[in-house]
Amino acid sequence: MSTQMTNIVLFGPPGAGKGTQATFLKESFGLVHISTGDVFRFNIKNATDLGKLAQTYMDAGNLVPDQVTIDMLSAEVFKNRDSKGFIFDGFPRTVAQAKALDVLLEQFNTSITAMVALEVPDELLLERLLDRGKTSGRPDDANAEVIQNRITAYYTNTAILKNYYESQEKYFGVDGVGDIDIITNRLKELINSF
Ligand code: AMP
Repeated sequence: MSTQMTNIVLFGPPGAGKGTQATFLKESFGLVHISTGDVFRFNIKNATDLGKLAQTYMDAGNLVPDQVTIDMLSAEVFKNRDSKGFIFDGFPRTVAQAKALDVLLEQFNTSITAMVALEVPDELLLERLLDRGKTSGRPDDANAEVIQNRITAYYTNTAILKNYYESQEKYFGVDGVGDIDIITNRLKELINSF
């Protein structure tokens, strides 16, 4: 690993479109996409110890404890240490996670390039998530109360990370409302400017 890597934190509330956009961006920029939610879901599907531990939190729309999440993320980064860089999707979600990520990347002589935030108004989030729940098969998308809890967890623990990256001049907001391909283009243009 080196300082030459591009490491993007793709940020935004649940339903902002992080997963959708990360899929396009990883292809365009040749980056490794790490979605902590996807890794947890994979572990739940395969009934691993990690999956069993994460499931209760996820089903309720609560955050999985920091240390469990940080250990898992560290392992994923280590596996891909020779890549061109990362798109972190759904991580960090707390200040403790953001600090741990800085320490982790420093060990590999690299750092976060930018936090790129998809900005979407709350009213649209609930609508998008309920809609996604019809096809995603995700239990945490199917229930309005759980969705609300996820949005609350975002505002309680995660939204503050805007300040964390802003104070390092690494925060960049992008309008997350509109057609998927138009939003992809907004993101690509921004990432190309780094
Ligand atoms: P996501 O796929 O990003 O919407 O995440 C789905 C669920 O996985 C969240 O509601 C949390 O329960 C859990 N999760 C994913 N990433 C994290 C994280 N960085 N910290 C804690 N919990 C997480």
